[in-house]
Amino acid sequence: TNGTAQNATAQRLRLESLRKTYTARGREPFEAVKGIDLDIEPGELVALLGPSGCGKTTTLRMIAGLETVTSGRIVIGDRSVGDLPPGKRNVGVGFESYALYPPLTVRENLAYGLKARRARDAIARVDAIAERLEMTELLDMRPANLSSGQKQRVALARALVRNPPVLLLDEPLSHLDAGQRQRVRRELKVLQREFGYTTIVVTHDQLEALSLADRMAVMDAGVIKQFGTPDEVFDAPADRFVADFVGEPSITLLPGVGTGSGVRVGGVGGMATSVHVPDGRDVLVGLRPQDCHPTDGPGLEGTVLVFEDLLEFGLATVELPGIDTRVVAQVEPGHPLRAGDPITIAAPPERVHVFDPATGERVR
Ligand code: ATP
Repeated sequence: TNGTAQNATAQRLRLESLRKTYTARGREPFEAVKGIDLDIEPGELVALLGPSGCGKTTTLRMIAGLETVTSGRIVIGDRSVGDLPPGKRNVGVGFESYALYPPLTVRENLAYGLKARRARDAIARVDAIAERLEMTELLDMRPANLSSGQKQRVALARALVRNPPVLLLDEPLSHLDAGQRQRVRRELKVLQREFGYTTIVVTHDQLEALSLADRMAVMDAGVIKQFGTPDEVFDAPADRFVADFVGEPSITLLPGVGTGSGVRVGGVGGMATSVHVPDGRDVLVGLRPQDCHPTDGPGLEGTVLVFEDLLEFGLATVELPGIDTRVVAQVEPGHPLRAGDPITIAAPPERVHVFDPATGERVR
């Protein structure tokens, strides 16, 4: 074997109405996680995505047993693990803050406590994982001398060599430089596939979430707003928050009014939608730049404010008369536009997202 082959048995991971209220003396109780449900298939990789402070780390720490649960259940396989100490949960954590023993080298730290038959097997496994994570040169160093990006790779390797059925990673690549981040991300995905770890990766980086995840859970203010494949989340965002948070460049949200088969936006034109929008209903219209293109037919009529030529395509920022919000449209290469050019923008009906302005929910 190459020293890494030792399969974990993939396990289903379920969170049921999981809740966390922080209480500190002299402070108002703070509900960081507000009753979340997640059902993660054995061997599946789920990205937990959301803005800073939405409760991602708290959720991960509860699963790992590093934080107490206020209410709800955590089930791994068919076992409720809420009452088990962290070491008994069969969960590998890749938290960067994980303590390493300063007197030992990185290699000794990683091999320490491994359930290998012989010390030599443990070392072989550590060396194999280290090579795949581009950190062989770190193995003889002491923890105190590591940079933050190096510590991060050590933390990742530490979780992986233990071959856990459930793997929890909190921003595992955030301190790596762009090139290395991409390579380590790919290798992480390969290792995860190979060994079938049921994995949650916490990230606020949507490219990371898109590239790694089988499904992603988009979280906001302690609540999971949507759980689905990256395509499902991108193509049919469940609400205005998800629409705005997922997608780069971000979606444009415009006030509009239903016409039955479509929407009207101010006095500047209309678009057909694939959902029925009752005549006269106030809505928010969501248009992704990738879906908006110049047209000779009907659409939203405006004026080019700026045009950015990005080689593979151009981005036109368009002003619509009488409306504060600007629309961004992606334009084919070789069609340069100039500031001041008149332009009409269209999008395919199934790509025109409609939200309720009061609740933010998607109109279906
Ligand atoms: P980030 O991406 O910035 O790490 P996050 O989504 O991981 O954010 P958490 O770290 O889970 O968010 O924090 C969620 C909320 O709970 C935050 O508002 C945070 O201030 C609060 N919080 C976290 N730990 C404690 C604590 N020990 N006591 C009180 N409040 C806390």
